[in-house]
Amino acid sequence: MCGYVSPRPISEYFPVWSAMIPFRRFDTLNQMIEALGQRRLRCLAIDPQALPDAPSLAAILETAHRYGVPVVLLTHYLQPTLWHLTVVNRPDAWASLWTMPSCVQLWPAVAHHGDPVSLTPRLRELLAIFATYPGRILTLSAINAEAVQRGVRPWTAQNLRTVIAALNQRLLPPHVQTRRHAGYLFTPCSPNREFVEPGGAAKSIDSRPPQ
Ligand SMILES: [Zn+2]
Repeated sequence: MCGYVSPRPISEYFPVWSAMIPFRRFDTLNQMIEALGQRRLRCLAIDPQALPDAPSLAAILETAHRYGVPVVLLTHYLQPTLWHLTVVNRPDAWASLWTMPSCVQLWPAVAHHGDPVSLTPRLRELLAIFATYPGRILTLSAINAEAVQRGVRPWTAQNLRTVIAALNQRLLPPHVQTRRHAGYLFTPCSPNREFVEPGGAAKSIDSRPPQ
């Protein structure tokens, strides 16, 4: 996961809705240093205004460097509403953090195996959460907990069913299954462009019905 510390929601700094890794807010310096030491963080985003003093910032930067964790500072200087991502170390690693190996890609645009997919903002937000947890059954409350961390508006049960149905129509074959009394399961296509239905044989995604 990626940790962040800031006085504002992380979504105000950059389009975290498109991230394919979980984001978690940290409230204290010790929590952050502990998570770094336990190697639970793949990246760290810091608004320096959230830290009490310069030694605290130095402590985090040194610890992150020791564990090889990419750090980005969330800064603004001339225009208070215009934030910059100031990459402190490992810009190569930071750039690759947005995506995971998956059949879907969310940044800079939504695509499925490289083909552009047109989704509404709410569908994109939901797809990003599912793509962050491939192969894991997510309940409504788990989805909404992740939404809150990303600064995304939560869904109602009815609303979520509607959005999932729409997503399954746009992203073929359908990627999200409803597991009764359990939740929702996102299954990516395998790298050879085959989609494996749970309990069934693989079928090629090129055999999609005409649209
Ligand atoms: Zn797929």
